[in-house]
Amino acid sequence: MTLGQHQEAFSRDFAKLLNHLHDNGYEVRCGELERTKAQQEIYFKEGKTKTMNSNHLKRCAVDLHIFQNGNWLTAKADLQEVGDFWESLSPENRWGGNFKSFIDTPHFERNV
Ligand SMILES: [Zn+2]
Repeated sequence: MTLGQHQEAFSRDFAKLLNHLHDNGYEVRCGELERTKAQQEIYFKEGKTKTMNSNHLKRCAVDLHIFQNGNWLTAKADLQEVGDFWESLSPENRWGGNFKSFIDTPHFERNV
């Protein structure tokens, strides 16, 4: 599979995720999807990321701020159902809430 095909599969699953959220009473404020290498280096130096190999660099990750009843959900327990849905769409999908070393609940990616 080419990177372009991974990007296309990611955007299809991203659309399904947004529909799932809206159909289940959540509101979404979209954050970062594509990230430049220079921006990744800034985040790395600031400790906001632990990797220089982010799937954001490949346009295969997105950060979403998810709200329910006006409350911004950030806890893993509050978003587990959403993360499980994301990971059910493809064996290559990973939710940052399930990361072991650096829990990142707004982060949804296709591991490329
Ligand atoms: Zn992210």
